[in-house]
Amino acid sequence: MPSITSDTDASELAILRHGERIAAALPRRSHAPKAIVERRVMGAMMDDEELRAAVFRFVDVRPACRTRADLADHLAELLDAAQGSRLAGLGAGLAGRSPTRTATAAVAAAGVRQMAHRFIIGADATAALPGIGALWDGGASATVDLLGETTVTEAEAESYARRCESTLRALDGAARSWPARPRLEHDAGGAIPRVNLSVKVSALTPAIRAHAPHRGVRGAEERLRRLLRVARDVGAHVHVDMESLDTRESITDLLLALLSEDEFADGPSAGIVLQAYLTESPAHLDRLLDWVGRVPRTVPFTVRLVKGAYWDHEVIQATQHGWPVPVFQDRRACDRNFETLTRRLVDASTSGRVRAAIASHNLRSIAHAVSYAERRSADIELQVLRGLGDDTMRALVRTGHRVRCYCPVGDLVAGMAYLVRRLLENTSNDSFLGAQAKGADTHTLLETP
Ligand SMILES: Cc1cc2nc3c(=O)[nH]c(=O)nc-3n(C[C@H](O)[C@H](O)[C@H](O)COP(=O)(O)OP(=O)(O)OC[C@H]3O[C@@H](n4cnc5c(N)ncnc54)[C@H](O)[C@@H]3O)c2cc1C
Repeated sequence: MPSITSDTDASELAILRHGERIAAALPRRSHAPKAIVERRVMGAMMDDEELRAAVFRFVDVRPACRTRADLADHLAELLDAAQGSRLAGLGAGLAGRSPTRTATAAVAAAGVRQMAHRFIIGADATAALPGIGALWDGGASATVDLLGETTVTEAEAESYARRCESTLRALDGAARSWPARPRLEHDAGGAIPRVNLSVKVSALTPAIRAHAPHRGVRGAEERLRRLLRVARDVGAHVHVDMESLDTRESITDLLLALLSEDEFADGPSAGIVLQAYLTESPAHLDRLLDWVGRVPRTVPFTVRLVKGAYWDHEVIQATQHGWPVPVFQDRRACDRNFETLTRRLVDASTSGRVRAAIASHNLRSIAHAVSYAERRSADIELQVLRGLGDDTMRALVRTGHRVRCYCPVGDLVAGMAYLVRRLLENTSNDSFLGAQAKGADTHTLLETP
């Protein structure tokens, strides 16, 4: 049918146009020594599975190393694994037990710390405020994620909830003096809160277990209700992150039930994450949109569309139990589903009752979202992760888009698990960032999935 073909061609051309414009606005590659070393490390990791595994082990044990000699031992192990890789030359300083060896270990430790800081905006809310203010000054907003170790006691869950509450208040205090940024503060759905917190329900209760998620999630109910009240009082947005599939239904039930209560009819602004790598994510979106249609709230409900960060976990768990694998196993199928869900969310957002937040570092996924929103005259928000999406964020700000940066807050130990997940993503050959780092050209990166 000629008309469909030309329609498709026209939208592909629009995607290409937006993608090229954003790509042209990406900052130039830095030639600072720090950036060169980081690229070399990432490049070596991409080429070498063994080295990847060794780096993750090293990053994992780094916080537990009490002495420099300890650190040197672990680093020597890492560099053993690097034999033959582009990092092998760095091993020279670690041969034998010498002062050079411990000095090299100290440099490596500093490297790990520096790498963690690229992803973490501050050790606590107070330390994070200047960085968040700087983002705002530069034209991007933030969502803050408080990193925590696994919550195993009621006391830890309570402490996490209190940290969330005090962070909302601290951010609110600081945000009052930020200059006006109309693009970040209003869209077709009305005012957008300056303060935005991302929350993991599993950190609000020690009782969440894969085999009995409903019981565990109930333990989080009072703490999430309290958090919603604080957010409503200070006019902030609360966003519920999504974790592995076993807790998804319970977390969704909990958030939607709380937001359906009369006391939250006029706020706070809130939202949830939708993971496009799940094969039945379209049905989950049906459920969310059905709820939005039935429950009369006066503030739009935000859906943040992501691909999903627990792909390996879902595949391994399903395989071990002999269950059907719940995620797409072909990258292109996952990307196509992401585009279909993007279009559905953008369509839904034209009602003014839903906000579409498209979270990806993939230039094709972003350009598709931008071009479809333009076609529907709809507002979308683009979201990136601090550390991974910094360049993309700058390019999106420069090209006039509304961008939010997901900013983890926490100390070095709390940040390690996060760092390992992000490093895995950044150096995976199957990822967009991996392909980009290997020098794929813009046209290839923008190909239809
Ligand atoms: C602001 C923000 C918030 C986020 N919040 C969450 C959250 O709450 N929960 C969550 O789970 N994730 C979250 N993520 C992470 C997100 O799910 C992705 O892991 C990450 O953004 C990489 O996707 P991409 O589109 O940037 O990269 P791309 O390189 O385009 O896609 C990589 C993704 O493709 C999928 N994939 C990898 N291999 C395969 C395969 N063989 N077959 C099919 N699919 C595959 C995986 O989901 C992988 O993460 C968030 C990301 C951002 C930017």
